[in-house]
Amino acid sequence: MMQFRDLAKQYQTLKADIDQAMIDVAAQSHYIMGPQVKELERDLAAYVGVKHCLTCANGTDALTLALKAWGIGPGDAVFVPDFTFFASAEVVALEGATPIFVDVDATTFNIDVQSLETAIRQTLADGQLKPRVIVAVDLFGLPANYPLVKAVAEKYGLLILEDGAQGFGGSINGRKACSFGDISTTSFFPAKPLGCYGDGGAVFTDNDEWAKLMESYRVHGKGSDKYDNVRIGLNSRLDTMQAAILQVKLRAFDDEVERVNEAAATYTRLLNGHVQTPVIPEGFGSSWAQYTIQLPDEASRNKLQAALKEAGIPSMVYYPKAMHAQTAFKNSSFSALHSSLRYSDYVTNRLCDTVLSLPMHPYLETSDIEHICSTLLAVL
Ligand SMILES: *Cc1c(COP(=O)(O)O)cnc(C)c1O
Repeated sequence: MMQFRDLAKQYQTLKADIDQAMIDVAAQSHYIMGPQVKELERDLAAYVGVKHCLTCANGTDALTLALKAWGIGPGDAVFVPDFTFFASAEVVALEGATPIFVDVDATTFNIDVQSLETAIRQTLADGQLKPRVIVAVDLFGLPANYPLVKAVAEKYGLLILEDGAQGFGGSINGRKACSFGDISTTSFFPAKPLGCYGDGGAVFTDNDEWAKLMESYRVHGKGSDKYDNVRIGLNSRLDTMQAAILQVKLRAFDDEVERVNEAAATYTRLLNGHVQTPVIPEGFGSSWAQYTIQLPDEASRNKLQAALKEAGIPSMVYYPKAMHAQTAFKNSSFSALHSSLRYSDYVTNRLCDTVLSLPMHPYLETSDIEHICSTLLAVL
């Protein structure tokens, strides 16, 4: 049976090193904040090209640590793409701030800067909330358009939080993802581009003060030591076991990014002209967390997904529901603000009906891709 993301095959490929790394952690018995955690943080910071990396318990906490370091709370507006995983906006609401949802670009799936600027102006005109942060998500492995997002952020004096949960390994003109935000975050959830064997995450920044604050928030708001608590924080550490596994996986990562790019090129060569294939803008690099095609309408998307399933080919709809349509957000205080934004030509709503993500991982065989594509084209 074909896998959507074949984690077992990756384990078989890296087995000798991963087994040794896990045995070493067990033998050393330094399970919390063992030496592998600091080593990994140093390696991740060097890989991304930023001064500070702090690992934490998951990608959602990573976003929370950033918002806490900036003191985001009630009365603050945080702009979030409407087409993303729930966590990107959940953390904003959890801090008591207000997420304002912004439409995305129809070809890159990432935040649309024109909609962003409209939403910022509308919020300013409304006068109830103070615009503070732009959450730019690197959806499906492709970095958001940071040169454009940065220009808007500077114009309105906002901070950029790069949600790179799906974006680790992507790039813009050779610069690596998770270096584009004032603070950037990633997730090591197993199915993400760089995944561990459970939950994990990290924050990245060049700013010494924010790094120090996030280090404190990560461990119960610690002060000079862990029994001196100077702020209300989290218990959000990465396990030593996960760090040791990630050390092995990070060494294999560049090769894996190359492999998924080859897989994506094969998909696009076989599907181009038949369905809308993903577009990577000039100068951008993707780590292909997902390979996502677009069908003309919801009926043909659903028909294709059912036919693929019948043929034993898994596929996923990321995401079937816009953030603004999620029950959790529907009746909250910002909905009035949001409903005043124009919905005509609203890209997010269309994408929720028409996207389909196909199997994608570094160990996907060319023969599998050929089988998927010929099945897909036969249905069309
Ligand atoms: C997965 C994901 C997160 C959350 O990461 P977890 O490690 O699962 O907490 C946040 N944002 C996006 C865009 C994600 O895909």
